[in-house]
Amino acid sequence: MDKKVLMLIEKLEKEHSLSLSDYKYLIENLTDEVIALLAEKAVAARKKIYKNCVYIRGLIEISNICKNDCYYCGIRRSNTDCNRYRLTADEILSCCKTGYGLGFRTFVLQGGEDKYFSDDIMCDIISKIKENYPDCAVTLSLGERSKESYQRLYDAGADRYLLRHETADNKHYGFLHPDEMSFENRMDCLKNLKEIGYQVGCGFMVGSPAQRPEHLAKDLKFIEEFKPDMCGIGPFVPHRTTKFADEKTGSAELTCAMLSIIRLISPNILLPSTTALGTILPDGRERGILAGANVVMPNLSPESVRKKYELYNNKAYDGAEAAEQKEELARRMKAIGYEVVTDRGDIKKGQ
Ligand code: SAH
Repeated sequence: MDKKVLMLIEKLEKEHSLSLSDYKYLIENLTDEVIALLAEKAVAARKKIYKNCVYIRGLIEISNICKNDCYYCGIRRSNTDCNRYRLTADEILSCCKTGYGLGFRTFVLQGGEDKYFSDDIMCDIISKIKENYPDCAVTLSLGERSKESYQRLYDAGADRYLLRHETADNKHYGFLHPDEMSFENRMDCLKNLKEIGYQVGCGFMVGSPAQRPEHLAKDLKFIEEFKPDMCGIGPFVPHRTTKFADEKTGSAELTCAMLSIIRLISPNILLPSTTALGTILPDGRERGILAGANVVMPNLSPESVRKKYELYNNKAYDGAEAAEQKEELARRMKAIGYEVVTDRGDIKKGQ
């Protein structure tokens, strides 16, 4: 193995930090052997804190109506071929009821940026969930909102917020998004969420169009410095109606290597093995866990809408991706030595 790579992995393991150029060097020298070593070290770091526990989240996709036009995304506003829906408050609460019965203790409300879900409406939904299930965490993933709005949702009881930064490079952000969207605003939102007191998640797609090693190095440096509580990463998968329809799917191996590196940067981070990874490989969820992830987010949306929240081609929603199949997921995790637990699954700090 390349001596410098070995030295960098050891440094990362001890100091949880590398320079931007060293991250880039590591990314450019990822052989199978290096990826396996990163996974081994990441799993060891994860086990020290989380043992063999896998935390689960019930993902409720509350709306595929979106005011934004992200070039990669299947539910972007200018896609006229998208069958739009929006869940009612009662439908969302009924998903939580089903999920609670199945053993979920975190509900993630994700959606497009749908104006209908005003602060008043969201606060009402959040406080009802917290009232009915006081032992559960509520995570929101509703895109960019004002600081005042984030504060109101937090005061209503939301615990966590997921807002992927998508890419930590300003120019690359501009390549993936229309001019009306701004990198600065996305980053400001993340800072605001943290200041308010949310457990905050950022994240990015691996293999997004025009992504280069220096972009990924910036993503890693950003994670090292921002210190998120959670980080969602998955491979880019093209969507047939977007201008990136003919771009290549991101690599599962590179995604797993990124999961391992992020685990070494932040041993206690909550790191999902994502649906996108589970979509491009039949054993993607397992591969993510074996690379250092410790969270899985099965789909708890009403079955009638699951197909409609199509961020990318063939997004998986059945089998172990479906919340109802939790036992199947638990069996698959057990087969690789992990245990799905009934727990809010908060970040363990001060370890
Ligand atoms: N509107 C919310 C939720 C977005 S959907 C927000 O802005 O945060 C959740 C995530 O799906 C996005 O952050 C993006 O990283 C991912 N995603 C969207 N299109 C994708 C694609 N084509 N391939 C892989 N991931 C995609």
